[in-house]
Amino acid sequence: MLFPTSKIYIQKLSDDLFEQKQVSVSVLRLDQLHAIVSGNKLFKLHYFLELAAQQLKEGIVTFGGSYSNHLVATAFACKEIGIKSIGIIRGEQPKEISHTLKACIAHGMELKFITRQEYDQKEATDFLESINLSYPDFLIIPEGGYHPLGANGASLITDRIPSDTTHICCAIGTATTFAGLSKNLKNEQQLIGFPVLKNMNDIEKRVTFLSSLPYNEIQIQIINKYHFGGYAKKNNHLIESMNLIYEKHQLPTDFVYTGKMMTGVIDCISNGFFKKGSEILCIHTGGLQGNLSLEPGTLKF
Ligand SMILES: *Cc1c(COP(=O)(O)O)cnc(C)c1O
Repeated sequence: MLFPTSKIYIQKLSDDLFEQKQVSVSVLRLDQLHAIVSGNKLFKLHYFLELAAQQLKEGIVTFGGSYSNHLVATAFACKEIGIKSIGIIRGEQPKEISHTLKACIAHGMELKFITRQEYDQKEATDFLESINLSYPDFLIIPEGGYHPLGANGASLITDRIPSDTTHICCAIGTATTFAGLSKNLKNEQQLIGFPVLKNMNDIEKRVTFLSSLPYNEIQIQIINKYHFGGYAKKNNHLIESMNLIYEKHQLPTDFVYTGKMMTGVIDCISNGFFKKGSEILCIHTGGLQGNLSLEPGTLKF
């Protein structure tokens, strides 16, 4: 890795519920990697950064919305390795830009705002070609690192997973991190994904593309019930659950990804989804800076 990973640790949670159900629950604290650029994003960028360095690129161009953790991570990583970064942002430039985009600028990223219509064509080949022409010496990374190289980087997370883990739980956005984790599953280990978008029914297709492997439906499960209304949507139940998790375990979560995943895992434990003796490892993918967009006082942390 291009970044020191020694701050990552595993936090074991204790709770009467887990004892009663005879399951063990731990959290892989990838959020500890960096205060702002936390979690899975630096892993996903790993091989892109290596490629940009090998090909002596001037910088990296990537895409995202106003609250994209991927953009901040890219800005930070590019600054660290001494190359430029350009962020193409969905939507007109607002009067007051988000905390996330301010962090991008602070890390030296140049922002370009494009209309939603233009943005929606970002996968289209002529759009990508036009970007290529505008920035010939830049490496282009798809939104969220959605590419087999991104999944390869995320698969490096597996090195941190104890071998007796029976269930790995992870939030799903683009599914790149999830696909990376799916590449190195041990025999009988289960990988459980919690999509944070509503009606995400193309995960199998995504994982197959990203992992370049046939979909392992015996070891991979998707639980679609904990999106709380959709991407970046929230309700009181989610916020209360995040506060409770913090009070009980001193575990901060973000409302877009890890709060939903943890709420889902605990609910599944209550429902008896995990059999006795399960060794559950939840991946804390970070994203805590996203909580800055909540009303102050919403969270107790
Ligand atoms: C981006 C992000 C995810 C989702 O990762 P994907 O690889 O896009 O599925 C999960 N958690 C956090 C905190 C993130 O920022």
